[in-house]
Amino acid sequence: MNSPETAFATASTSRDLLPREVDVAIIGGGLMGCACAYYLSKAGAKVLVIDKSIIAGQQSSRAWGFVRQQSRDEAEVPLMQASIGIWRSLEQELQSDLGWRNDGCLFVAGNEAERDGYESWLSVARTFSMDTVMLSPREVEKKLPGYAARQLGGLFTASDGQAEPTLVARAFAMRARELGAHIVEQCGAKGIDVAAGQVVGVETERGYVKAKTVVCAAGVTTFRLLKLLGISLPQQLVRGTVARTTSAPKLSGISTIANGVGFRQRLDGSFNIADDAHVDVDMTLGHFRALQWYAPLLWAHRKSFRFNLNGACLTDLHQRMPWSQASRSGTGIHERNPLIPPNDRGLAKAMSGFKAAFPGQASTQIVDRWGGGIDVLPDGIPVIDAHTSPRGLAVATGFCGHGFAMGPIVGKTLANWIDSGNPGMDMRQLRLSRFAEGDVKAPSSLF
Ligand SMILES: Cc1cc2nc3c(=O)[nH]c(=O)nc-3n(C[C@H](O)[C@H](O)[C@H](O)COP(=O)(O)OP(=O)(O)OC[C@H]3O[C@@H](n4cnc5c(N)ncnc54)[C@H](O)[C@@H]3O)c2cc1C
Repeated sequence: MNSPETAFATASTSRDLLPREVDVAIIGGGLMGCACAYYLSKAGAKVLVIDKSIIAGQQSSRAWGFVRQQSRDEAEVPLMQASIGIWRSLEQELQSDLGWRNDGCLFVAGNEAERDGYESWLSVARTFSMDTVMLSPREVEKKLPGYAARQLGGLFTASDGQAEPTLVARAFAMRARELGAHIVEQCGAKGIDVAAGQVVGVETERGYVKAKTVVCAAGVTTFRLLKLLGISLPQQLVRGTVARTTSAPKLSGISTIANGVGFRQRLDGSFNIADDAHVDVDMTLGHFRALQWYAPLLWAHRKSFRFNLNGACLTDLHQRMPWSQASRSGTGIHERNPLIPPNDRGLAKAMSGFKAAFPGQASTQIVDRWGGGIDVLPDGIPVIDAHTSPRGLAVATGFCGHGFAMGPIVGKTLANWIDSGNPGMDMRQLRLSRFAEGDVKAPSSLF
């Protein structure tokens, strides 16, 4: 399996001329944009997807690959339950290997506080009739043979799974293209055009395209495009790091968090491994934007953040200069291929936590590693909305490091919503306007 940077012998039609007019223009060729394009194309809509870089070059190929319902905010659970239903037959639907394994998800409690936290989530599971259970320490041992770290049981959901992030968005893009969607890489959206309160088109680097509906699924850049419309979205950026290892003896197909480490094992024996306990915050002037939303959370979540004063600060200052590439590209496009270095110290810690927990994996080595920029919102849940002002604007963003699992249902829901005017489920808690209304609750987790 390739790393995100090298995976794409792409579905690109980058030399294609843009259509003059489409039913729906989608900004951003990540998982959300590509899944939405597939379901819309299937429903017969004329669709354009543009990405300022390559299909799934950002978060959507850099994820751990956990597909989990458990431990989510209640607002996300019904969507995730529906998403699992799609995942089960998605390889068949897309006629593609997606690395799907339906072997469950397990969060192992290393201390009393973790155990209490996991146990308290069981009430959410009950509300939604989920198959989540609390395992005893002995049951955890059976799921994770040879586990040697301290443990007090764990939260387990058998219906959860895992899939391969480098494959999924691309498969959606390829099938969407076969159904007639225009998928165009290296073509950024400069702005969304609105007349009399109605979206009328998108201004791109290669010219203007008329569209009565524009889906803004631009990952960490979404807040910039919305700002051009006068909409303020308190979206921020943190950095996660993931590694892939050598093939190792079979341990388990369960997506697992244990001993401060997140990992999943593929059928070829290799693992994706990450430090579960921390993300990096590479401080820039941009982090002072929307600070009022985050300040109350920083203390409560201080153990989860590594604040770094590093090259990102200088890069940010440079990008603010009128002669920089980011400034010349314009607010909506900004940085085309952000450099996202992995945190090697964090990975070393994750590997030592992994090997301490599984002495039988002592010879497992890292063979590849990458960083990924994660878009967060202050309430820890995304915006998924196709009923906004201006009319015709749909937004899918702010997935706070757990949107990969939701991608299929986000695409399907937005497509239904755009096509029929009805999302098919209650999406009120995920509406865009909640920030302007000040109707924002504390996050159950930030990423
Ligand atoms: C390290 C890491 C680990 C993660 N682990 C998991 C996990 O295990 N499970 C899980 O469920 N989720 C996980 N996630 C989260 C998940 O990957 C994301 O929530 C999801 O992929 C978001 O998809 P997206 O389409 O919204 O954004 P992205 O994949 O970031 O796509 C946005 C796209 O928009 C494009 N774009 C931006 N601006 C413009 C513009 N102006 N014009 C045109 N194109 C533009 C970008 O080039 C990019 O390709 C993880 C994320 C990271 C980074």
